[in-house]
Amino acid sequence: MSDLHDLTTVRPGDRPALVARLAELFPDSVRGQPLDAVCRVAIRGGRQAALERLAAIDPVAYATTRNHVGGSVTKLSPWIRHGVLSLAEVRDAALARARVPEDATKLVSELGWRDYWRQVQAALGLAIARDIEPPAARRRGGQPLDRMPDDVLAGATGLACIDAFVRQLHESGWLHNHERMWLASWLVHTRGVRWQAGADWFMEHLLDADPASNHLSWQWVAGTFSAKPYLFNRENLETFTAGSHCSACPVRGRCDVEGTYDELSSRWFEPGGEGGRPPLRIPPAPPWRAGRETARPRRPLVWLTLDALAATSPAALVHPDQPRVFVFDPEWLATERPTLKRLLFISECLAEIPGLEIRRGDPARVLAERAAALECDGIAVTDTPCPHVRRQADALSTTLPITVEPWPLFCRRDGVRDLGRFSRYWSKVGASALVPTSDSR
Ligand SMILES: Cc1cc2nc3c(=O)[nH]c(=O)nc-3n(C[C@H](O)[C@H](O)[C@H](O)COP(=O)(O)OP(=O)(O)OC[C@H]3O[C@@H](n4cnc5c(N)ncnc54)[C@H](O)[C@@H]3O)c2cc1C
Repeated sequence: MSDLHDLTTVRPGDRPALVARLAELFPDSVRGQPLDAVCRVAIRGGRQAALERLAAIDPVAYATTRNHVGGSVTKLSPWIRHGVLSLAEVRDAALARARVPEDATKLVSELGWRDYWRQVQAALGLAIARDIEPPAARRRGGQPLDRMPDDVLAGATGLACIDAFVRQLHESGWLHNHERMWLASWLVHTRGVRWQAGADWFMEHLLDADPASNHLSWQWVAGTFSAKPYLFNRENLETFTAGSHCSACPVRGRCDVEGTYDELSSRWFEPGGEGGRPPLRIPPAPPWRAGRETARPRRPLVWLTLDALAATSPAALVHPDQPRVFVFDPEWLATERPTLKRLLFISECLAEIPGLEIRRGDPARVLAERAAALECDGIAVTDTPCPHVRRQADALSTTLPITVEPWPLFCRRDGVRDLGRFSRYWSKVGASALVPTSDSR
């Protein structure tokens, strides 16, 4: 176990010092990106920055412009992903800014996608990294590529749009939803890259990188968790980017996304389509209780995970005076290979949490040691579908009581029996998601 306490003693807001220290502690995360470029990443971690962004959301403009790359999207995903803002809190803010609840319907249903993906992750665990269904269409050509092509990683494909998306992902760690869909579709269907290779690449760079939203969105695009594959065509790109990429593109008019959906579909896929796939049914998981039911600890050590990086996250809020620990897990570092800008966002969130210990090591072992040293009688953790956290908590629960603190209610899921498709899920829970927290108590 190593102590990363000095991460919390870097003067608040001193990004260059924080970036330099992170680069020393996590040299594998630098991967050629100049440190001053990382310092210029526009999105800042922490609750304060999240609240500023939340104050600026406009649900009415969102509903009409969200598909446009320059539209009024919230850009809240990095904070929502890390539990710095809860879905309920964002929903409440959207309703507060709407004249009538219907004005917020579109934004709330998009929040619903995140909720849905996480329910699917809770139900399937690590299996979300494998095809959930057989592909909806069979791609022409040979075996898919298992790794990202070098020209793509270098942003040198010759397609102005794709190269711009790659640069933006590498430099800023954030892409608009449409850009993610186009990039993923082009990689999987046009270049024949296995969706897992693209998803892993996104996980390295996105500031909101989250296996549930990321892997399952890639599967949705690939057609391994959707009724049909999502296709990227140039006309759609022109419509939602005001032609900004195509006007300067050296292959304008003869690129590989030129054509109607039908033309592209018959170019990339064997005839036949979805036939033969049985309807997908995914039973929801029961609420998570770590290990066996034991006595609730009275003086727990609060374990802050990647899903709960704020003093306002449930476990920290319920136990405000108890010690808190965040653990950088070497297994996570090796698996997701987060780049320095991701670690910067996370560290800026951690820096705002008073009284936090930051450690590196196997979480179950670190937590057991710290709980003993701090005379804690158990562990408190915020609810999460993350299979790694659940596994660690289950291991710990054989020796220490664990309490799982729930998130504020986003929607009522009692009637949900099947997570096979978002539309079925939302038809059961959507109306309850439009009820503000103040009315649901
Ligand atoms: C291939 C691919 C990979 C993706 N990877 C991630 C990821 O790792 N992490 C992540 O948070 N989102 C991911 N998304 C979903 C979506 O693109 C982003 O959540 C959204 O673009 C973030 O921008 P925003 O905050 O302005 O969203 P807004 O449109 O303003 O929506 C508000 C919030 O709702 C949630 N949300 C909206 N759309 C989606 C969606 N389709 N799926 C899940 N949540 C949604 C997010 O929390 C978002 O912050 C991915 C989408 C695709 C197509």
